[in-house]
Amino acid sequence: MAEIALCPECGNMRPVFDQCPHCGSTEAPSLSADTIEINLKQGQPLVEDALENLTHHLRRSIDLGIKAIVLIHGYGSGGEGGQIKRAVHQALENNRYSDRVDEYYFGEQVPYGSSAYQLLVKRRPGLKSYLQQFKMGNPGITILLLRPYDRSA
Ligand SMILES: [Zn+2]
Repeated sequence: MAEIALCPECGNMRPVFDQCPHCGSTEAPSLSADTIEINLKQGQPLVEDALENLTHHLRRSIDLGIKAIVLIHGYGSGGEGGQIKRAVHQALENNRYSDRVDEYYFGEQVPYGSSAYQLLVKRRPGLKSYLQQFKMGNPGITILLLRPYDRSA
C-alpha cells in the first residue's frame, strides 16, 4: 500500500496517525488514498495491546475518512503473529468491532480471482493492485471495510 499522508501545516510527508515529526502539528493529515495499511505486529506487542491498538486506530481512521484498512497480523502456529491473528479473527467474529467495521475479509479467503476477491475489489477498487500480488491469498492479513461515519449517532 502506498498511501501518502501530508502535513496540512508544513506540507511534509508524515505518518497517518502520529503528530507531524517535522513541525509537531496534530492536525489531520491529507491522505492520497482512502485505504491504509496497519501493521499490528510492529513492535511485537502483546495480543491485548495489539487489539487495543486496533480499537484506537479504527476510531481515528473513521475520523480521517478512511474507508478500508489492510491489517497485517502475521500468521503461524506459534509466536505472537499467530496469536494476534487468532485474536483478531475472534474479535471480528464476536462483533467486537461491529460498530466500526462493516465487513471483513480474511486474507486467505480472497486469493486473486476468487469470487470473494471479485466482490471485494468491486466494493473497493483501490485494493485491486494490492491484492493481485497474492495469487494464493495471504493468511497474514485481514481486510476491513469501515462503516461510514454516522453523524446522527
Ligand atoms: Zn508538519
